[in-house]
Amino acid sequence: MRKCLRVNLFVNFVIPLCLIVYSGLGIAKNILITDIAKSASNEWQVTYKSKVPIQSLQFAITRDFSRHNRWTIVEQGFELSQLAGKDSVFRRDGTAFTEVTFRLTPTYTHLPKYFAPFSPFSEGSMVFHSARFFACANLCLSNENTWYIRVTVPDRDTILFSGNVVKNQASWYDSNDGTKVFVGQLKPIHNSHFSAVIDPALPSAIVENLSVFLPKAMEVLANQLKANSKHPILFASFGPTDDEEYGRQGGVLPNQIFMHWYGKITPINQYELLWFYAHEAVHVYQDIAAANIAEKDAWIHEGHAEYLASKLLEQFLPESKSYILSRLNQAEAECRKILETTSLDVLAENGEYQALYYCGLQFYQLAEHYSKDKEIGYKLWQHLARDRGIERQIDAKSLLTVLSNYIDDEGLVRIKAELGI
Ligand SMILES: [Zn+2]
Repeated sequence: MRKCLRVNLFVNFVIPLCLIVYSGLGIAKNILITDIAKSASNEWQVTYKSKVPIQSLQFAITRDFSRHNRWTIVEQGFELSQLAGKDSVFRRDGTAFTEVTFRLTPTYTHLPKYFAPFSPFSEGSMVFHSARFFACANLCLSNENTWYIRVTVPDRDTILFSGNVVKNQASWYDSNDGTKVFVGQLKPIHNSHFSAVIDPALPSAIVENLSVFLPKAMEVLANQLKANSKHPILFASFGPTDDEEYGRQGGVLPNQIFMHWYGKITPINQYELLWFYAHEAVHVYQDIAAANIAEKDAWIHEGHAEYLASKLLEQFLPESKSYILSRLNQAEAECRKILETTSLDVLAENGEYQALYYCGLQFYQLAEHYSKDKEIGYKLWQHLARDRGIERQIDAKSLLTVLSNYIDDEGLVRIKAELGI
């Protein structure tokens, strides 16, 4: 029997926000209406509507051929094809159209290096990812970044999106990597620093740890990193799969942290789980969208999230000390080994995120070692945030400039040499 455990944790790519684009002719761009609907019998469908006839509809994000198996076109005469790596829809007879509807498969599926479209909860609630539905009239241009989403659900359900709680119907303009949208009857837990929707079928140890550790961690981050007012929402869902696969996938979007367990829940190290959530919580408060960090410098914020996760565990779960030490030692050893043959830039180019996590964490460990300051992770970030007005770009150079306020020249030289920065 084939079984596959997949654990996917990935970085959040930050794409700069673009304004609504108008064509040079002064005609407003044709932004499609994307109507996502859940019926009373729990069927999901999406209808795209165009104000003017279009020849084709192209999806902004295509990661594999999963739409071809999971999306069924309701109307006759349409075809879904992948052209130049992008899913596109057109009429077989070549005529223009203004509307097309797909029936969806609302189950968990893994998309390569991207957020899952649907994360079902055990009792029937759902989290879906809006960017799965981003589509353009005719073709998507590279600067396309405004999407009109409308969601309609049965009376019994609630819609949660971007801090809003709505019944029946919600609509908004979406952008960038989209957002996770909750639809269902589970009641969120609210406290002063975050809201959470936690699947009641998850083991009680997970539920307890999340609801005790995370509020404390969020409070420290809110006070220390002083990011603009944040009230993140956490989704922890658990749903069956229709194949034998099981595992978990987690991630973060602006003000959202989520993890989905699918298939079955495998024995899990609670410290590893809390480390994951702490890491993602740090991202929420880092304000990386405003910090302007290039993808090649991802080790700066990933390492920072890793380092502060270790600090938060140390602070609130002192019994996790040996687990923390093993991760810190592993990061040090792995990073040293990797950098013998490869540079940080090449690791980033090749998308070797695990290596970037190790080396990023090693950077902050060294910063603590040479500064002899256990608060250095918070101080560096506060300092970078203060300087941001003058120095918009956070990169290795600006990080080292800030660090030079806390360590002597010798320490700085050694860190630069060890990381090759
Ligand atoms: Zn991260």
